[in-house]
Amino acid sequence: MKNKEALDLEKKLTYKNESAWHSYSEKQREKIDKFAQEYKDFLDRGKTERECVAACIELLEKNGFVSADEKETLVPGDRIYRSIRNKGLVASVIGTEPVLDGVNILGAHIDSPHIDLKPMPLYEDSGMALMKTHYYGGIKKYQWSTIPLALHGVMYNSEGKRILVTVGEDEQDPVFTINELLVHLSQEQLARKASEAVKGEELNVLVGGLPIGDAETKEGVKLGVLKLLNDKYGITEKDFMTAEIELVPAHKAKDVGFDRSYVGAYGQDDRVCAYTSLAALMKVKNPARTCVCLFSDKEEVGSIGNTGALSWLYENALMELAVKTGSGCTSWEYRRMLDASHMLSSDVTAAFDPTYASAYDKLNTAFAGSGVCLMKYTGSRGKGGSNDAHSEFFNAVVQVFEKNGICWQTGELGRVDLGGGGTIAADMANKGINVIDCGVPVLSMHSPFEVTSKADIYSTYEGFVAFLKKMKKEIDS
Ligand code: MN
Ligand code: MN
Repeated sequence: MKNKEALDLEKKLTYKNESAWHSYSEKQREKIDKFAQEYKDFLDRGKTERECVAACIELLEKNGFVSADEKETLVPGDRIYRSIRNKGLVASVIGTEPVLDGVNILGAHIDSPHIDLKPMPLYEDSGMALMKTHYYGGIKKYQWSTIPLALHGVMYNSEGKRILVTVGEDEQDPVFTINELLVHLSQEQLARKASEAVKGEELNVLVGGLPIGDAETKEGVKLGVLKLLNDKYGITEKDFMTAEIELVPAHKAKDVGFDRSYVGAYGQDDRVCAYTSLAALMKVKNPARTCVCLFSDKEEVGSIGNTGALSWLYENALMELAVKTGSGCTSWEYRRMLDASHMLSSDVTAAFDPTYASAYDKLNTAFAGSGVCLMKYTGSRGKGGSNDAHSEFFNAVVQVFEKNGICWQTGELGRVDLGGGGTIAADMANKGINVIDCGVPVLSMHSPFEVTSKADIYSTYEGFVAFLKKMKKEIDS
């Protein structure tokens, strides 16, 4: 065989992971940049679950969606949403086919790792007012010290009035920070394991330093902070007990790189898939199958609670679609509907990082910039806790992606036995739905500044549109 023939054969028979950028024209790149700009605005407006739900509803209403409560009955083309206790969301576009024939679902989570205040957070020590915290989700704790933090949350005062608190986002606002030991005195700290470099009880946030009263006043700095909070919000120390207050990085989403090809921001896991899912749903008009976005809370801590993906509230929202389109929805009918439903568990995956190459199997990893990643399984050790998508379903999704020119890739979450992780895929598959993980590769995942490629964000959006519109009930099996 001549070399030329071998090259032809190579082209025909082998697969190579390629940059998605090559397949986008100059004009498309402008679109990609515009899409990324809107995505960054979305991230800045929704840094907590609650804010993210509010930002989604604002966008949905601008695009003709109404609250499900406003509709007694539903007909094809209707666009509705249901808030799940202000921390989760189900949005749907009703199709022409019966809901009981199954629906196409994009399921993302809108919680991200962050730092919560403890129920009794405030104390004074050495002339400083500080707050105790308890972190949420999997974080490298040392990454969260010495950065500007903003405080977001909801509190209730003694009269039961709800108070929304946001400090640290406006240009004029003060920020908060977790101090860390100076390097000069860190000989002992630097000998600790990295997982304990900054310990959970060391994540104490600096919130004040101006005492009120005089030398006789006990804890004047703490009192000064409480007075400020009382003047502004009418709250007292006791009101922190029932509050939900999160500390998140204060920085805004930014372009990264001379060529601006990446987005750097807090909370991209998994709001990057929430935004691309939402944008895809808003693009859909009069579909054949009913299209659904399911945005859940608490994924980072096991999808628990009534706002987590395992909650019946999400199932109620799906049942509502069947009932309000005039079908019965006995548990038999509902379960058959789930059986006939298809879902992309739209969640992020690890992007290969050449600096830490040994953490990955380079042949089986996603690369930033190579397009949306479809993952057959996640999990840890012997695929524990993963949804192992069926070949039949994986192939059906790939057929849709290929027919619609979607740049896609596949990969595993790092080297075997190194660690691992899960998504809501397994939880949803347990209900009978066909599910596969599909989303954007992320660098520095779970850090205060996660990085994604704009090409991947856009190809994920395009893939989601194709899935919602083109995924049919029947798949080869
Ligand atoms: Mn995730
Ligand atoms: Mn995560």
